[in-house]
Amino acid sequence: MRIGVLTSGGDSPGMNAAIRAVVRAALSNGDKVFGVSDGYRGLVEGRFKEFTRSDVSEILNRGGTILGTARLPEFKYEAVRQLAVKQLQKNDIEALICIGGDGTYAGALALHHMGIKTIGIPGTIDNDIASSDYTIGFSTALNTACDAIDKLKDTSSSHQRCSIIEVMGRHCGDLALYSGLCTGAEYIFTNETGLDKEKLLKDLKENRLAGRRHAIVVISENMTDVYQLAKEVEDYSGYECRATVLGYVQRGGTPTPEDRLLAARLGGFAVDLLKQGVSGVCVGVIDNELRSTPIEEALNMKNIPSEELHNLVQKLK
Ligand code: ADP
Repeated sequence: MRIGVLTSGGDSPGMNAAIRAVVRAALSNGDKVFGVSDGYRGLVEGRFKEFTRSDVSEILNRGGTILGTARLPEFKYEAVRQLAVKQLQKNDIEALICIGGDGTYAGALALHHMGIKTIGIPGTIDNDIASSDYTIGFSTALNTACDAIDKLKDTSSSHQRCSIIEVMGRHCGDLALYSGLCTGAEYIFTNETGLDKEKLLKDLKENRLAGRRHAIVVISENMTDVYQLAKEVEDYSGYECRATVLGYVQRGGTPTPEDRLLAARLGGFAVDLLKQGVSGVCVGVIDNELRSTPIEEALNMKNIPSEELHNLVQKLK
């Protein structure tokens, strides 16, 4: 079989490990693998390169993606996808493994309906793909966020300060919830919890009066202007307050062993499924078992925030 592999949407650490796993697993089956540059954009433009075993050497521990990634909003139009199908047919590539988030999955599903065999692999730091307990990149981003928050906590404590830290995760609060829990944050706000500003200000004032030396607030991106919030906290609570937006550092770095392991397992599994003639599904690990889910179903699954973890935050703060 001739298989294409691409990375699309936002990049995440461990995408390279997934590419490597796909290439090596496919070659070991006697298949040929073609790397597609820059996601669906490169697909439409026919930018394919046949990969040998050594083309994916020494990338396992590198962040980013050697294939590059891009956004091509026009891919939702059938006429644009038709160009991609033509490029695949011209190169006799019958199957495509698409590594990315839910937008990437939507593209893979549309190609499946046009006769291309597609499999999705979850590569995003947000952990917002409900058909897998964890997505490739989440563990590394969590490590990065925890490291930064630990450091901010040190200095917050020295200066009797409140630190507000904005982490990524627009539609899924896992990065905020997990990093906040792991660093002992007093308050965690995600799009699932919402932000009750009045209550936060009141609580912080009470904390301050009770003599607590610092407070850590972890908040998901796009909830509010954290710099403005820091000003309001400072005016109201008596704490000096600083806001830090962690931003794109969370997208980079050497993938953790957990992300490499997940990437290896899911890359190998995706190739196995193609060999069995499966298409239109995405792969994941649920309760430590490899699982495949129809992409259509996966796109409609809701991320349910862990009630257990949110309750723990309240108890441990
Ligand atoms: P992610 O995969 O990380 O969620 P995006 O949402 O930006 O990132 O999607 C990545 C790419 O997937 C888009 O630039 C576009 O090319 C393609 N895509 C997104 N949504 C669709 C859709 N509904 N139909 C077809 N292709 C899509």
